[in-house]
Formats: sequence, C-alpha cells, structure tokens
Amino acid sequence: MKQHYQILIIGGGNAGISTAAQLLRKNKALDIGIIEPSGHHYYQPAWTLVGAGVFNAEDTIRKEKEVIPAGTTWIKDAVISFQPEQNQVSTSNGHAYTYDVLIVAPGIQLNWHLIKGLKETLGKNGVTSNYSVDCAPYTFQCLQQLKEGETALFTAPSTPVKCGGAPQKIMYLAGDYVQRKKLHAKIEFTSGGGVLFGIKKYADELMKMVNRYNIQLHFKHSLIEVNGQSKKAVYEVTAADGSKSIIEKSFDMIHVVPPQSAPDFIKNSPLADTNGWVDVNKFSLQHMRYPNIFGIGDATNTPNAKTGAAVRKQAPVVVKNVLAYLNKQPAEGGYNGYGSCPLVVGYGKLILAEFGYDNKVMETFPFDQSKPRWSMYMLKRYVLPWLYWHKILKGKM
Ligand SMILES: Cc1cc2nc3c(=O)[nH]c(=O)nc-3n(C[C@H](O)[C@H](O)[C@H](O)COP(=O)(O)OP(=O)(O)OC[C@H]3O[C@@H](n4cnc5c(N)ncnc54)[C@H](O)[C@@H]3O)c2cc1C
Repeated sequence: MKQHYQILIIGGGNAGISTAAQLLRKNKALDIGIIEPSGHHYYQPAWTLVGAGVFNAEDTIRKEKEVIPAGTTWIKDAVISFQPEQNQVSTSNGHAYTYDVLIVAPGIQLNWHLIKGLKETLGKNGVTSNYSVDCAPYTFQCLQQLKEGETALFTAPSTPVKCGGAPQKIMYLAGDYVQRKKLHAKIEFTSGGGVLFGIKKYADELMKMVNRYNIQLHFKHSLIEVNGQSKKAVYEVTAADGSKSIIEKSFDMIHVVPPQSAPDFIKNSPLADTNGWVDVNKFSLQHMRYPNIFGIGDATNTPNAKTGAAVRKQAPVVVKNVLAYLNKQPAEGGYNGYGSCPLVVGYGKLILAEFGYDNKVMETFPFDQSKPRWSMYMLKRYVLPWLYWHKILKGKM
C-alpha cells in the first residue's frame, strides 16, 4: 500500500475536491491522495430547498467515487491524529500516511448530542433539521401538517455554524408557505445569538420579512433540550446582565440547528488554535506553525462566513500557495474573507448577501442585492447546483 503522497488532502467535501481538481488543472503530474471516509458527497446548500419541498434530497447526493478527480487516489478512511513533526497523519483503520504538503479540509462538526433528547426525537414528533439530509424532507412534511393557530419554532445556536443564514432561510420559507395557505401559525425565531444578521444593509431587509410573516424574535435563547413526546423545547436564556434562566416553550414543529465546532480530531491536535479550529493565516491560508500545512473550508479559524461560496474564493489561494511551497517560494496572501449567503426569504424570493472580512459588502451584480429578487432565487435553485457539480468540483471555477 502506498504510504507517501506529495500532496495529501483531508476531506473529500466541497473544499477538498475542488482544491484537488484545481491543483491537477495546474499540473497533471502532481501525486495527490484524498482521505475521505464517506461513500457519498453532498451538495448541502440545496438542503434548505429540500426542506421547503422544492428540491429532491436525492439530487443533492452523489457517490464519492464520482466526484474524486481522475488522477488522484481516494483513501477511504478517516484521519484521527496528526504528527506534523514527522509529516504524518494516522487513520482509524490503523494506517499512517506521510506527505510533502498537507491540506486540511474536514468541514465542521455538528454536535447534535449537546441538545438533550434531540437524537431520540429528530425526524419525528415534529422535530426536524435541514442540517441533516435525512431529515430535510421531513421539514416539508412538518410544514404541510401545520394547522391554524399552531406554533413553529426555528432555532439557531450561539456557536459558529455553516451557512449562518440557513437557520433563518427555512423560517422565511415557512412564513411564506403558511401565508399562502392562509393559515395563522405562530412563528418564533429562538437564537443563541444577539442579532438577526451582522450586516445592517441585509439585516434591515430581513427585518421587513420578519414583520411580513409576523415572526417573533427571541435572542440569547440557546436550545438545550427537546422533548418530542410532550412537544416542549427547553432554552437557557441569557439576560443583559449575564444572568441565566431556564424557560420552556411548546411547539407543534421545531426546526433545530445544532451547536457546531471544529471536529474533535482537529481540536485535540497540534494544528488547532485555542478554540479548536485549524490555525491558519487568514490571507494565505497557510498554517501558522507548519509551513507545509494549509487549511481550507469550514474547519479553519479564518473569520469569514463558513460557506461553499467562501471555499470557491479560498481554493485558488491554497492552490497557488501549495505550488509555491513545492517550488520553495513563500506563500502569499490573496483571500479577502469573501463569503456569500443566498438568503431565501420566500418562494421565488432571495436576497444575495455577499461580504468579506470586517463585514465589507462585496456584491457581484450591478443592482442592490439586499432587495429580494426572483432572478437570484433562480440562481440558487438552478444555476448554483449546476455550477457546483459541473464546474466547481471539476476545478473549473
Ligand atoms: C443546510 C445548509 C445550507 C447551506 N447553504 C449554503 C449556501 O446557500 N451557500 C453556501 O455557499 N454554503 C452553504 N452551506 C455551507 C456549505 O455546504 C459548506 O460551507 C461547505 O460544504 C464547506 O465545505 P468543506 O469542504 O469545508 O466541508 P464539507 O463540504 O462538509 O466536507 C467535509 C468533508 O470532510 C470529511 N471528513 C470529516 N471528518 C474527516 C476525517 N476525520 N478524515 C477525513 N475526512 C473527514 C467529511 O466526510 C466531508 O466529506 C450550507 C450548509 C448547510 C448544512
């Protein structure tokens, strides 16, 4: 069995595959190994639309072997630890692999277990989450089953999450759905965070949606327990003075977004920063202590929105700097923190938020993207999924 790779990539998700494909486009002769345990690859951004009943869950899934770029080696295994001084990683199957350059792209960890009772009831009793492809179709079933006067809760944790807008997108779709059905359901957003959206330009437009759908907002409410049988959600509420209290809310449906963190095997490794994320330079994406290690995607500590859109702008920077490293050249900056959040605010309506470091607005189109538009909804529904499978994963953009 081959044990050494010129370039070893951890994670065959959005970041790992697009980076591998772009590297090969630069130099076909590169010797690349990709360690990825899953037999399937997922287009996660469409899970919001699956939850709204307008996208098939099956269309978000491909076999991993179909997306692994030809000319690379797929190692179907999971990394469990790092030995960076020996340029080596160890895996759960008991193997060790060495590298000249390591690219770390294992994504974010979903900590379902931190909400008491959630695992037992997820996918039934009106408890759902678009953060699981198995449950996303159930979100739409829950919406369809909502009746006059019933309550739908939508949660967001206080931790960083992938796609910060996703906890809200499904809520606005739900608001639109019940209004079209002329139902008076009670919709509440219960968030561990303190604001609706970090950038005023977009937050102001989202507030209009909150008012349109009569959504009640509750900030600093962190979901800690769900009881599906009795349809009760338990929250820890933090008051302005920092004091904490416990409250209970009844629901007929609840859409849960789990707390998220760096993966445990990253947290417990020499690659982590003090919060557990892969510790990289936020412009060059090169590791702060190990120059032959690079990080990309949701697992790094770069202060951008954790999105596939960010990965699209990070990948060319990693590719350039990996090739520079192999040529004994210094790494250069280049990533400006770009991320995008296609905020679906109803059926056929989307606000395309685009921004970089320090919340600098970085819009692509020559119109005000904070206004809900049908054209941007079409971009998300049809154009972006096609680009993902046919261009992004092929290293063509
Ligand atoms: C509901 C939802 C909606 C979203 N909406 C949007 C959107 O509208 N726009 C947008 O741009 N982004 C969106 N995203 C976010 C986007 O999907 C992620 O930001 C993107 O997938 C990050 O890429 P990644 O490669 O870092 O992680 P992933 O794509 O999650 O891939 C990580 C890979 O690493 C593998 N891995 C994990 N552990 C190990 C290990 N120990 N060893 C080896 N491999 C490992 C995993 O199996 C996985 O294949 C959304 C996500 C969700 C869940």
